[in-house]
Amino acid sequence: MSKLGHHRDWTVLKLIKWSGQYLDEKGVERGRLDAEHLLAHAMSTSRLDLYLQYDRLLSRAELDQYRPLLTRRARREPLQYILGRTGFRNLELEVDQAVLIPRPETEILVDEVLQWVADNELKELIALDIGTGSGAIALSLVHEGPFSRVVATDTSKIALEVATRNSLMSGLSDRVDFRFGEYYDPLTAGETFEVIVSNPPYVADGEAQHLDPEIREWEPEAALYAGSDGLAVLRRIATGAGPYLKPGGLLALEVGLGQAAYIMELLENTGEFVTVRVRRDLSGRERIVLAHRVMND
Ligand code: SAM
Ligand code: GLN
Repeated sequence: MSKLGHHRDWTVLKLIKWSGQYLDEKGVERGRLDAEHLLAHAMSTSRLDLYLQYDRLLSRAELDQYRPLLTRRARREPLQYILGRTGFRNLELEVDQAVLIPRPETEILVDEVLQWVADNELKELIALDIGTGSGAIALSLVHEGPFSRVVATDTSKIALEVATRNSLMSGLSDRVDFRFGEYYDPLTAGETFEVIVSNPPYVADGEAQHLDPEIREWEPEAALYAGSDGLAVLRRIATGAGPYLKPGGLLALEVGLGQAAYIMELLENTGEFVTVRVRRDLSGRERIVLAHRVMND
């Protein structure tokens, strides 16, 4: 890092190359790409605009902005926390250490819900998002689908603060109802939904050592771990959903590797659900469990 002190020598390209290598050495997966994001952020420009300025020399002020960002990434802090934001579907969301960084597989979870809504030409729906974190799922549903309201819950007050800010920034706050509490506790008796969706914590406690440092050392534990088998939270969400779903309503859950079959069986065994099925994520893994509340007869 001392090399970075001699600011007169640094062109944009030289700095990107050097930083990329530096991050690679620290075990960061796409070092150069992240360096580009960080430098663009420090220079208040876009990553693509950097390419037009490869030969430009950096000012001392720009280097001073950049240096601490690079140091943070070298300590394996996730890029999204350093930038303070991330993209999720069509939304730009604020993220910090209070919330899980929304993942691509969760975009598919949202897709499945929207697809079902579209196929059935449903309107003015009310959904429940359990463990909303940054608000990614809840906000995408009201942004993209015919939802008049989404109740979005979390057991983390600081996560709910981030989610609330995201709802305001996206201009969607009037249709999201944030509530504090676990499982179905934040609901009133008799409250029912067309959709219940959740991406809860599902990593087994003992799996922590296998996670990347970006996850293990930086993301909230309450967003990741769910007991010795990772199923503690999913189990209670699945078995408790029935009474809160309208007949025919959709339950859509993101699950961890190897957990789909168990959750499907659990849902079947309640006798409250039909059409229990699974969807795969982008890497072909069973990731999303879907089911419908039986119709009243
Ligand atoms: N929904 C967001 C997403 O997909 O990006 C965040 C998902 S994160 C894996 C799980 C979230 O659930 C965390 O914000 C955590 O605080 C919250 N949580 C954990 N246990 C919960 C429970 N029993 N009831 C409600 N929320 C819970
Ligand atoms: N998908 C996260 C991971 O990469 C886990 C988040 C969760 O438990 N829902 O490990």
